[in-house]
Amino acid sequence: MSLIIQKYGGTSVGSVERIQAVADKVLAARAKGHQLVVVVSAMSGETDRLLALSREVCEQPRPRELDVLLSTGEQVTIALLSMALEAKGCAAVSFTGGQVCILTDNVHNKARITNIDAERVSTSLKEGKVVVIAGFQGIDENGNITTLGRGGTDTTAVAMAAALNADECHIYTDVDGVYTADPRIVSKAQRIDRIAYEEMLEMASLGSKVLQIRSVEFASKYNISLRVLSTFEDGLGTLITAEDESMEQVLISGIAHNRDEAKLTIRGVPDTPGIASRILGPIAAANIEVDMIIQDIGDEKSANFTFTVHRNDYQTAMTILEGTAKELGAEGVDGDDRIAKISVVGLGMRSHAGIASQMFAALAEEGINIQMISTSEIKISVVVDDKYLELGVRTLHSTFGLDNDS
Ligand code: ASP
Ligand code: MG
Repeated sequence: MSLIIQKYGGTSVGSVERIQAVADKVLAARAKGHQLVVVVSAMSGETDRLLALSREVCEQPRPRELDVLLSTGEQVTIALLSMALEAKGCAAVSFTGGQVCILTDNVHNKARITNIDAERVSTSLKEGKVVVIAGFQGIDENGNITTLGRGGTDTTAVAMAAALNADECHIYTDVDGVYTADPRIVSKAQRIDRIAYEEMLEMASLGSKVLQIRSVEFASKYNISLRVLSTFEDGLGTLITAEDESMEQVLISGIAHNRDEAKLTIRGVPDTPGIASRILGPIAAANIEVDMIIQDIGDEKSANFTFTVHRNDYQTAMTILEGTAKELGAEGVDGDDRIAKISVVGLGMRSHAGIASQMFAALAEEGINIQMISTSEIKISVVVDDKYLELGVRTLHSTFGLDNDS
């Protein structure tokens, strides 16, 4: 008998009918003799609705209270799914994150799981029940409810798979797998059969919104293969797994993009040791993640420093940077939130030279100006004007031979 973790996202449980359909899928897996732990998201739109409600009450709700509110979305789904299962004659029990001791740190709204005590889940499984667990939530040491950041249900599912030493972890969603590019932008994008954790991490962090990036980190750390599947269609989906030799033969696995960033520049800062940390220290202290960074020389003794942050953090980062500029006697600050990042990702880059020049040439041919560049061993990213996003992604998809022409 295998233990399977199934995760269903918001769209998959978006209505009572869909919850019934999910219950049928659970029953079908159970009929094959598997033990099942089902991790679910809030019904689609629910988390956004709750967020909007909080904003009607207060502009900047306390993160702790926000977590108390947001965690209710998942609680509704677990109860309804358990009821649907029971109504179909299948013993089921629902648990919130706190009830199954999903322990997290105390960083409200983006907490990280530190430990899971899977005892209660195992006991229920032994009793022959399907266990339904609320995704996206946990509790800190003091019993406060925490949430794991948007899309956090994926991470709950993978963490449960690790804690229970599950045989398989299936992520059911509204797409049938991970694609070589966003199919809404590139009609010739293709589904990827298998992708290495490392590539998926680059794709996810770059905005291929299929999985929360944390969940892939977790899967990689505990070597849990994940299969992303459609709730609505049959198919094999995409297997996200440990790297093997055959994977490096594929030059480029996909073109990722991200419209969620904004860039900030502080001009004319002294070109002396310690300046970068004076600039980024306060940003980090505000819990704002920095992605790309470049520094270039202004005149002889000064430098310009540019970095990108999530668009949601743009205003806060700008306010902080303005303060830093005053302290450092900088010339000024400016910013732009109409940027997009496009990246080519592939393990094959390790063994093939010339990918970067091919990429830049293709963009130049379309008249797309590159504002920033960053690279890793398996990825090259550029920042361009937002308006060139679609053109850039399509161009690179065909340049690297990813178009599905059949
Ligand atoms: N309900 C949460 C969200 O909308 C968590 C999730 O769906 O994974 O972000
Ligand atoms: Mg999701």
